[in-house]
This record gives sequence, C-alpha cells and structure tokens, in this order.
Amino acid sequence: MAQNPFEMAQAQFDRVADMLDLPQDARELLRNPMREYAFAIPVHMDDGTTKIFRGFRVQHNDARGPGKGGIRFHPEETADTVRALATWMTWKCAVVDIPLGGAKGGVICDPRELSEREQEGICRGWVRNVAKNVGAYEDVPAPDVMTNGKHMVWMMDEYETIIGKKEPGFITGKPVGIGGSKGRTEATGYGVVWTLREALKAYGMDITKITASVQGFGNVAQYAVQMLGMLGGKVLCVSCYDHHDKRAYTYKRENGVSFDELKSITDGFGCVDKAKAKELGYEILPGAAWLSQEVDVLVPAALGREITEENCAQISGKVKMIVEGANGPTTPAAEAALLERGVIIVPDFLANAAGVSCSYFEQVQCNMNYFWEREEVLDKLERLMVNAAHAVLDLAKERKCSLRDAAYMIAIQRVVEASRRRGWID
Ligand code: NAD
Repeated sequence: MAQNPFEMAQAQFDRVADMLDLPQDARELLRNPMREYAFAIPVHMDDGTTKIFRGFRVQHNDARGPGKGGIRFHPEETADTVRALATWMTWKCAVVDIPLGGAKGGVICDPRELSEREQEGICRGWVRNVAKNVGAYEDVPAPDVMTNGKHMVWMMDEYETIIGKKEPGFITGKPVGIGGSKGRTEATGYGVVWTLREALKAYGMDITKITASVQGFGNVAQYAVQMLGMLGGKVLCVSCYDHHDKRAYTYKRENGVSFDELKSITDGFGCVDKAKAKELGYEILPGAAWLSQEVDVLVPAALGREITEENCAQISGKVKMIVEGANGPTTPAAEAALLERGVIIVPDFLANAAGVSCSYFEQVQCNMNYFWEREEVLDKLERLMVNAAHAVLDLAKERKCSLRDAAYMIAIQRVVEASRRRGWID
C-alpha cells in the first residue's frame, strides 16, 4: 500500500529533527499545519443539477512570510495530500531563502470531465470560501496539477470582487499582461540546470563535459534540456509519454538531442511526433530506457516515484549525479541504495525551487505594479538559485551528509529560527 504522503512528510521531518536535536515545542509546531480549511463548493452544473465539490487550503507554517503554494484539481485529492504538500512548500521556500511560508490547496474534482463554466464555478467557489484567510500578505495561491493561468485569473477576479479593489499579488501563475511574470515558463527547468552546474562544480565536474538522460519533455524537462544545451552539456535522450499510444518512449540521438528541433515536433502535452523524430535521426526506444543510459547525469523531470528500489540497479555505473526536476522522483529506498553506490542526488525541493521563486518575483512585481524584463527576472533567479545551491553543497560537505539531509537541515533551521524570534517556541 502506498504510504500516506503526510505520514511520509512527517517521517522526513522527524529524521532531520533528530539530526538537529530539535526541542519538543519546535517539533510539535512543525510536524503539523498551523491552519486548515476544508469546505463545500456548490456548483450549478451544465445539466441543471447542483454538485457539491470538496475544497481545501492548508497553511503549514507562515513564520517566514505569507503562505505560498498551488491549488490542485484532482479526483483523488485528499486532506493528507494537501497537508503533505503544504509542509514541503514550507521547506522549499525556506531552502531558497524566499520570505514565504508553506501552503497548499486542492479541490476533489476532475477538470477533464468539467466544462469551462463548471471549472470557473469551482474556482470562484474556492475563493469565496477562503477569501478572508488568503491574500497578498497572508497566503498566496498558484497553479498546480490540472490548474493553470486561466483558473488563476478567474480566482483573482473573484477575490478582487470580494475585497473591492485590485490585488493581483493575491495569486501567481497568471498570464503575462494580466499580472504574470516574464521568465516563469522557463524558470523551473533553467533552475534545475543552474543547480546541477553548481553541484557538478562542487564535486570537480564540468557541465560542458557531461552527458545527460532526461525523463519528460514537458515544461520542466524542455527548459532543462534547453539550458543544458546553452551551457554546453549534451542531452543524449529524453523520455516522454505518448497519449495516442498510451505509453512512454525514449528518443535518443548519439550526437545529442536538439531542444528547438524536438520542441517543434512536440504537442502541448509534451508528446513527440514519432515519425518526424525518426526523420530527424532519433532512435525510438521503450519509455524506461532513459534510466539505463551510459550517461553522467540523470534528470528525472516527469513524475514522482520513477526511480525505485526495483529499478535502480539498472542505472549505469557511469552515472555520477541525479538532479530531481520532478517532485519526489526517487523513493527513499532507491535513494539509500544509490547513495551507497556514491551517486550524488540533488533533491527536488532545491533543484526545482526556481518555479516558486519566480512566483515570488511575480508577487513582488504585482504588489508594486511594476514589471521587470525577462533578463532581469532570470538574472535575479539565477543568483538566488546559485546561493541556495552553495549553502546546501557547503553544509553537506561540512556535515558529511547527503544533499537532501543538508537541504532539510537548512530549511528546518530557518523556519525554527523565525518561529523562535516570533516567540512561538522557546
Ligand atoms: P508537464 O505536464 O508539463 O510534463 C510532464 C512530462 O512528463 C510530459 O513530457 C510527459 O510526456 C512526461 N511523462 C508522463 N508520463 C511519463 C512516463 N511514464 N515516462 C516518461 N515521461 C512521462 O509537467 P511539468 O510542469 O514539466 O512537471 C514535471 C514535474 O516537475 C512534476 O513532478 C511537477 O510536480 C514538478 N514541478 C514542476 C514545476 C513547474 O514549474 N512546472 C515546479 C516544480 C516541480
């Protein structure tokens, strides 16, 4: 049975709390969310009936600043999933040192089965339920699984109608031109590779000399592939899901994958046109082949739980580093086995944190109603990610621990310190 995600988040916290010898009051505060809202969202459906959807917002900790975290629309959403994700947001914001706390939201629904009007009803209903408890200076939502810029604009509109003024900093992930930030689309993928570059340097490797295999060719993976190319690294293959065939394939080319070429034959769901890929000289292998390539670096940037105890033995002895673009791609058992083999794992909540960091920049730009050029956004973002990576790399060397443990230690200590200064704990 899959482990309850909130129990997993608590177990991860407990482990590092022991390493840091945290006092009891800090543990009690940080093991659980500070506030939770669960509510009913009645929506008048297109067929004339009324359906009641269940919505959630969880604010795990806001000692360092307003809560931050996406809203997921998913048929299998649960209160515990939202709690776990809110907890991980606290650590993610803290490890990159942005002045935000951790939050998450969700609605049990399947947008694939709902009309636009029904989805708009859910968005507006969600906001009506939490309007008093969220906001630019309280808790800032964002898109997540199966929500996007369109949903964010409906939510902003409802919020502004309720409070009677413009407040675009209430929510991020909006389209450019209506409160969105330039650079957000490429932020996460670029950040993954900036973090990788710093980690390689710290372990005496050079990004211009490495080969990589990437899982995924969606938002994160595409821009990771592009930045790796821009920095002189070689991507040997990418693996992605084909929604026509309902299976994944790996697209490999010995002289390297070209971002521009591959993107031009990929649809909006990250699915590559096989016939055109063949014409361009790509070999088409089974989806799982990305994992067993003879490369220096693996970049899982598609789904969670892809590198497991069962398949991690297939990873080549040549692989020196795994940089986690996706959330939770490596299971704890696989991680233990890989660390034993000397593989360095750059953890997800550091590696993919440029996404939330750019959302923070969006919020800042909205609050001052002045928007930066793309270069300015990316320049600030790169500096932020490089600083965060160095803090983690330095601590891991000093404490002789994994990068994940080091990242957790930094994040937890920062939140403990802020909570202490506020007088919430001793
Ligand atoms: P996306 O939907 O744009 O892309 C997902 C990609 O994964 C697609 O190319 C799809 O074909 C591929 N995929 C799906 N199943 C696969 C399989 N079985 N084998 C190989 N490829 C498969 O999603 P995204 O925004 O790129 O997010 C990817 C991961 O990164 C997720 O775990 C997400 O939570 C995480 N993440 C995303 C962001 C962001 O800013 N987009 C930020 C932080 C974390």
